[in-house]
Amino acid sequence: MLVKVCQLCGKLAPVTYTCRQCKRQVCEACFKHEVHVCSECYSHLKQEMPLLTFPLKLFLLGFALVFVGMIFLIASSILGGNVETTTGIIIFVGPIPIILGSGPYSIFAILLATILAVLGVVFFLLLRK
Ligand SMILES: [Zn+2]
Ligand SMILES: [Zn+2]
Repeated sequence: MLVKVCQLCGKLAPVTYTCRQCKRQVCEACFKHEVHVCSECYSHLKQEMPLLTFPLKLFLLGFALVFVGMIFLIASSILGGNVETTTGIIIFVGPIPIILGSGPYSIFAILLATILAVLGVVFFLLLRK
């Protein structure tokens, strides 16, 4: 059996992972699975993008979209003067949007929520660069 050594901390590692940035073989503790880079490259990445804290940003974005969607729906219900309630809600679970809708115009609400969600994802991807 080949004994591997972590190229970052120098410890013996039963399993090593290859960093996609520097191609170093690192141990479990030195590897960031979410981004597939070693802890050293990860700290560099974080320095380059200090504003990006992954799940929090996405969560806030999803929350903002729900809020915007709500405003749209309230505004449309006031302007339309329709007594029947139409609801469209979009919830983000990680990168997956869950779209909920009810009422006679829910299809439009869902459509609006979907458009907002797509815009949100596009915006999010642009921010990552
Ligand atoms: Zn290590
Ligand atoms: Zn690396």
